[in-house]
Amino acid sequence: MHCSATSESMDDSFQTPDPTLSLAMELIARPSVTPDDGGCQELIAARLAAAGFQVEGMPFGAVHNLWARHGAASPLIIFLGHTDVVPPGPLADWHSPPFTPTVRAGQLYGRGAADMKGSVAAFVQALLGFVAQHPDHPGSVGLLLTSDEEGVARDGTRAVMEVLAARGEHIDYCVVGEPSCRDTLGDTVKNGRRGSLNGELVIHGTQGHVAYPERADNPIVRFAPILQTLIMTVWDQGSADFPATRLQFSNLQAGTGADNVIPGSLRALFNLRYAPTTPASTLQTRIEAVLAAHGVRYSLNWRLSGEPFLTRDGPLKAALSESITAETGVRPEYSTGGGTSDGRFVAPFGAQVLEFGPINESIHKVNEAVAVADLARLTRIYRGTLERILAR
Ligand SMILES: [Zn+2]
Repeated sequence: MHCSATSESMDDSFQTPDPTLSLAMELIARPSVTPDDGGCQELIAARLAAAGFQVEGMPFGAVHNLWARHGAASPLIIFLGHTDVVPPGPLADWHSPPFTPTVRAGQLYGRGAADMKGSVAAFVQALLGFVAQHPDHPGSVGLLLTSDEEGVARDGTRAVMEVLAARGEHIDYCVVGEPSCRDTLGDTVKNGRRGSLNGELVIHGTQGHVAYPERADNPIVRFAPILQTLIMTVWDQGSADFPATRLQFSNLQAGTGADNVIPGSLRALFNLRYAPTTPASTLQTRIEAVLAAHGVRYSLNWRLSGEPFLTRDGPLKAALSESITAETGVRPEYSTGGGTSDGRFVAPFGAQVLEFGPINESIHKVNEAVAVADLARLTRIYRGTLERILAR
């Protein structure tokens, strides 16, 4: 059962070490800079197998993936997470070594504490607790972990989802453990994400001497008004659920290094974070129309790194919201802002997907940390979500 945050649960944490904290510390102590797993999944697999889960490693290339399931019936509710972490950055800036989990002043420090070994530990403890109390629960519960979330994300969740779909294993509900909260545990749930569309644009010109511009064709000059037009374009107004579509340039290269040479080409990389109101194909058409209107010679490669998705009101949203409020007293706000997550690989298969995890203030920074108290609270929220969907 889920408990509320009362003196009773506080007492528990003083009497016995919190199992979620212990597991999070064991995971942090296994360095797993993406796409390494560092043995994290092996540790988790052993615990879930001992509790009766069907556990399966699904490696692709250098990437470790773990699929664990308890039960064979529908609906299937899974937790989705990653065991890889981003590099620690300058070691001298860490107050304690990044792969030596350290509790100081109520915070657990270490690379991955918040993103997302804390959530992964909470997932495991929530699943173990749920299955122990409801060995014959209806439906199924599962855990999908990858070591390829922080990197290229090709051989991780995306690849596993294709295997599961081919087998006919349909996921109904998915909770992603990405650190979603802003100031206090429970304040934010992500109920969707914008799409992410990348463009690599090359403007072709003709190289020449700067003193003879009439014999050259300067791609920098040709690009300037195109840049101006694209950054001033209003793509849409967004919607009640999504912020407006935005285009950002991230890389711009031209020039030979010499100050007397007009370059032969210019290369620009840009990204659009887009709302579902404006499909990727429409954005592509509009940008190509701008280029055509400026009469330039160009090549343009598109790469769609994630379709947008939105999870509307339904059993998962109700169960997670109620669990959060029961534990924290906070009513979560729903948001589709921020970067993408592996939820984008699960939603297209028809699952309801929500993201909920700890406070994200320290993620990817030096001295990454999660509040020790939030680990037990997160565990109760995740478990409460399972209880509310499958066991009431
Ligand atoms: Zn993450």
